[in-house]
Amino acid sequence: MSKRLIVAIDGPAGSGKSTTAKLVAQRLGYLYIDTGAMYRAVTLEAIKKNVLNNIEEINHIANSVDIDLEYVEGKTKVFLNRIDVSEDIRTPEVNKFVSDVSKIQGVRTAMVKKQQILGNKNGGVVMEGRDIGTVVFPNADVKIFLTASIDQRAIRRAKEYGEKGIDISVQEVQKNLLERDKIDSTRAVSPLMKSSDAIEVDTSSVTIEEQVNTILRIVKEIAGKNEIEITV
Ligand code: C5P
Repeated sequence: MSKRLIVAIDGPAGSGKSTTAKLVAQRLGYLYIDTGAMYRAVTLEAIKKNVLNNIEEINHIANSVDIDLEYVEGKTKVFLNRIDVSEDIRTPEVNKFVSDVSKIQGVRTAMVKKQQILGNKNGGVVMEGRDIGTVVFPNADVKIFLTASIDQRAIRRAKEYGEKGIDISVQEVQKNLLERDKIDSTRAVSPLMKSSDAIEVDTSSVTIEEQVNTILRIVKEIAGKNEIEITV
């Protein structure tokens, strides 16, 4: 009998995945893995090396960079070759290129491998991204697909930027979200899509606490059915 759960949370940009997944992991005492941060780190390195037009170089980066994720006081810290890039990976510039980098087959193969290694360590895991329930862990015990209206998603992201002192309009954020959604859901390799066995949770008009509790209820029910002990 397995003693841990793999919780996969997928969904489009701004659907509340990171905030929700982080809190769900915290409440369960599980490891939290933000896979978007990994694709962002590869993109940042490609921008720095000025090789965005060179697929071979980008593949090389994906296969050779050292990406570490740490969680300090509820915040994700991302290290690229040991350097803290937590802020640098969330700029509008990285947002602009990340979906094009993420559709490269070699990049996905390298990241999925890293994610499977991280998720297969001891203990439960909450992993969030676009293809966790479909490709990275198709046998995940719990699969959640988060959605929210495009207006809500854009307002949330613009607010996050505002809090960081980045001045960007809701319209501009909305444009980037729609562009990324389009590339992410139409790419040939592991597109963003709801796994047929995922439970859809619409976060448009609920508080973060409500969405966390909804997911924890689902996790509890599945843990109970599988006789897996969890502490919430
Ligand atoms: O989740 P976040 O918005 O930070 O992800 C940034 C980008 O990384 C996404 O728009 C998508 O292109 C890519 N991504 C992906 N597969 C994942 C996670 C993120 O392709 N599992």
